[in-house]
Amino acid sequence: MAVDLHLHSVFSDGSETPRAIIDLAVRAGLTAIALTDHDTLDGVAEAAAAAAAAGLTFVPGTELSVDWTTGPMHLLAYFLEPGTGPLQDRLEDIQAGRARRNEQIVARLRSLGFDLSLEEVAAEAGGRGVGRPHFAAVLLRKGYVADLRQAFDRYLAAGRPGYVNRERLDAITAIRLARASGAVPVIAHPHTLGITAADYTAAFEQLAAAGLGGIEAHYAEYRPEMRQHLAAVCRRLGIAATGGSDFHGTYKPGLQVGSGHGDLAVPDEALEELRGAAEPGAQVPRDQAR
Ligand code: AMP
Ligand code: ZN
Ligand code: FE
Ligand code: FE
Repeated sequence: MAVDLHLHSVFSDGSETPRAIIDLAVRAGLTAIALTDHDTLDGVAEAAAAAAAAGLTFVPGTELSVDWTTGPMHLLAYFLEPGTGPLQDRLEDIQAGRARRNEQIVARLRSLGFDLSLEEVAAEAGGRGVGRPHFAAVLLRKGYVADLRQAFDRYLAAGRPGYVNRERLDAITAIRLARASGAVPVIAHPHTLGITAADYTAAFEQLAAAGLGGIEAHYAEYRPEMRQHLAAVCRRLGIAATGGSDFHGTYKPGLQVGSGHGDLAVPDEALEELRGAAEPGAQVPRDQAR
């Protein structure tokens, strides 16, 4: 049996509603899912209700972009409940920073000669959270790029002319805020840290000491050897080896709920380990064979 702990809905930059994602998860035969929309918990209520009706275990979450010494890091915060709390209270500031950044992206793209407005991008996002994939979709619809990837490669990715940085929490602060809010912080898709596997261990040890609860080992883009390697690193550190598809619907073509590119199967144990990492001071069993 399998789970999928990394999913985006229309409440950030996914194309499907939480309800539709639950349907897809049921059809994929999953036992549990987590919703991890960027910077928001707004989809959690709908997802929780749909999951309960479908008999599926549901974990609320969000995905934050934070700063680490080597650059940006994506941090998943699991078991983060909507409402108030140390991390929840920061989400509004983060969303405001995103809104300011989005206005600046529009200005950049217009100065590059593209006819596009924030209203059009907001409409693409359905009136909810606007992310770069929505800019990419508008550029595609207007014929400025051949596909979504080209929109990032040419204009929207870091270092490209339509890219605008935004303020981020630093990783250690975000980890502490997540823990103070009863959430479990987990590093998403660790390859995007831009460090070699040899440097992972020192970084992960430092972050685990600060409260990191897990690493996304079972990621759709990883080959089986990489998934096993990262899971072994997690066992050594006594943190959870989690995983998910990073499904975004049509905004990331080719990824399915549960199975990713077809070969993903995040074991049920990933959720058990994540629950273990939620216990105050508790750790998942360390690898005895170390
Ligand atoms: P944002 O949070 O608005 O900065 O957008 C980040 C999202 O854009 C990521 O979660 C991905 O869905 C998408 N994204 C970022 N970089 C790329 C890329 N190089 N190619 C395709 N999608 C990307
Ligand atoms: Zn996204
Ligand atoms: Fe991410
Ligand atoms: Fe994601």
